[in-house]
This record gives sequence, C-alpha cells and structure tokens, in this order.
Amino acid sequence: ESQLNPNYTFESFIEGDCNRLARSAGYAVANKPGGTSFNPLLIYGGVGLGKTHLAHAIGIEIKDRYPEKTVLYVSAEKFTQQFIDSIRNNTKNDFVHFYQMIDVLIIDDVQSFSGKEKTQDVFFEIFNHLHQHGKQVVLTSDRAPVDLQGMEQRLLSRFKWGLSADLQKPDLETRIAILRKKLFTDGIEMPDDVVEYLAYSINSNVRELEGALISLLAQSSLNKKKITVDLAKQMIDKFVKNTTREISIDYIQKVVCDYFDMPMELLKSKTRKREIVQARQLTMFFSKQLTKNSLATIGAQCGNKDHATVLHACRTVNNLAETDKRFRTYVDDLRKKLTLA
Ligand code: ADP
Ligand code: MG
Repeated sequence: ESQLNPNYTFESFIEGDCNRLARSAGYAVANKPGGTSFNPLLIYGGVGLGKTHLAHAIGIEIKDRYPEKTVLYVSAEKFTQQFIDSIRNNTKNDFVHFYQMIDVLIIDDVQSFSGKEKTQDVFFEIFNHLHQHGKQVVLTSDRAPVDLQGMEQRLLSRFKWGLSADLQKPDLETRIAILRKKLFTDGIEMPDDVVEYLAYSINSNVRELEGALISLLAQSSLNKKKITVDLAKQMIDKFVKNTTREISIDYIQKVVCDYFDMPMELLKSKTRKREIVQARQLTMFFSKQLTKNSLATIGAQCGNKDHATVLHACRTVNNLAETDKRFRTYVDDLRKKLTLA
C-alpha cells in the first residue's frame, strides 16, 4: 500500500510561476527516480500551497511508469509514531529494515521532526541507506531548510545534496486556472465573472480558495439561489470574517466600555462601585468564553485580579443572567456586538 491519493496527480496540479521549479523538478524525479541530482527533493512552502498534492503526484507518476517500484508516502508524524511504537515493541530493526527496502520514500511535513532527536537519528540512518543505493527521497516542509530550527546539522547538510524548491502563493491567473480546472473536473458551470471575483478575493492559499468555492456552491444549492457575484460577495464577507477575526481581551474591554459609556481606566482599576464591578465581570466572562487566554491572564488584564476572581465573575454573570432581566439584556447585547451575530 503506497498511501497515495489518486486525485493528487500532475494532471490536476495547475502550473504557474509560483510552482514552476518545484513542479518540473518533481516531474524530473518522477521520470527517473533516484537517477537525477534532485535527491533528496525537498519541496517547501506555506500552508495550503500544494506541497502534499505535489508529493502525491510524484508518487503516482512513478507508480505509473515503474509499477515494480515500491513507493511509500508517509507523513513525518506517522513515521515518528511508527518509530516510537517500534521502540516500545522492541521491533526497531524491523522498522528500519522496512524503510530501507523502499524504492521511493516520500515524507510529508518534515518540519515536525524538529526537536525529535531519536527520530532524526533513525531517519538519518534510513536516508543514508536509501541514498547510497540510488533510491529516491522526496521531502516536504512548511519552511525553508535554513529556518528548520531543532533539526540536526548533519540532516540539514544532507538536504543540500539534492534540490530545495519552494512553492509560492499563486498569482491571480493561476488562481483562476485552478478554479476553472476544479469546476471542469466536477462538471459544474459557473459564470466567468464569479470565478474571477472569487480568485480575486481569496489570495491567501489554494486550500482557502477551494474552501470558498465549496461554500459558494453549498450556499447556492441550499438556498436555491443562482450563483452570482453578489452571492459570492455575501459568502466571502462571512467566510473571511469567520476565519480571520480573532477576539482579544483588549477588544472585549473596548466593546464593554463603549456599551456602558465608561472610561477604560475605571474598568482596569480596583474600584468596587457596582456598575464598574459588573462591567469588569462581563469583560472577564466574555474573555473566558471568546478568547483562549487563561484565567490568570484575564484577571491580570482586568484590574490585576487572580484566577479565582475570574472564575467567580463567570459564575456571577451566569447567575445574574438567569435571575436579572436587565442584566440578561446586557449579556445578549454584548454577545451580539462581540460576535457580530
Ligand atoms: P499543503 O500540503 O502545502 O498545505 P495541499 O497540497 O494540501 O497544500 O493543497 C491544498 C489544496 O489545494 C489541495 O486540495 C490541492 O489539491 C490544492 N492545490 C494546491 N496547489 C494546487 C495547484 N497548483 N493546482 C491545483 N490544485 C492545487
Ligand atoms: Mg500538506
């Protein structure tokens, strides 16, 4: 079992300036695995830019051309887990032997080897064996080799034996081509202006672009609406807000102070005046609910209180919201403002 995803082919991987070198190096490797100077081939780039897709494409192409070769795709995490299991079960030799028998080894997201010395050692051993025997190694990483902190120098120097090629963010034309290809493959029609609008609006990475396309198609079929630029616009407003907005304690303090029309200094002070204590408690309550900050951090930012005070505030808000109608309105109003619901 090579663990390859049949959809991630070269055919479905759109070429652009952003990926030309990595793609053609990958293609060269697929033509002559182990027989080029691109060994190892290291493909690196940010999230959602096609590393995993390209890694699979290389494996699939090799399987096609050389059915007798054993090709294995494995994530670095899975490799690590298998290694740990082999230690526990006293089967490390089998583990190493298994990997040394492979003709084409593809390891995805090797940045996760960082700081794992034992895993790096065993990978080093396997890598050397494969390389000496003319076997192909393909690696991906979410950052350039120079930025791989926590990776042993001897491994990094092995990476330099081959080729490192990066994937960059696709330009507008490539994004349009990716969307068109996807629509064509799925047999879906979409007006050109909508495709262009989507490609224009989502420039972060290909995964988000595909996500936006899927959301738009879902919106249109669920609400039985025609796919138009307007619908795309509504969807993106929602989509982008949900993915990129992160609520901070600062922001919650500002919204609460605006709502009660009180100065920020009072909220952060030690004053025990009732209205201010309430506003402070509401701030703590929402900070607990809507941010990932610890109780201690929340307390520190709300007038130097400790974590027990924050816990108490959360309970008080819950109780008051049940028993006091006016207070319930505060909670509802603030929640709406904070989550834009
Ligand atoms: P990464 O591993 O770099 O995070 P993936 O390989 O998982 O990114 O790619 C994310 C999605 O974008 C996948 O569905 C992949 O098929 C698609 N994708 C990325 N680059 C391209 C491309 N050049 N052409 C077509 N689809 C692409
Ligand atoms: Mg990936």
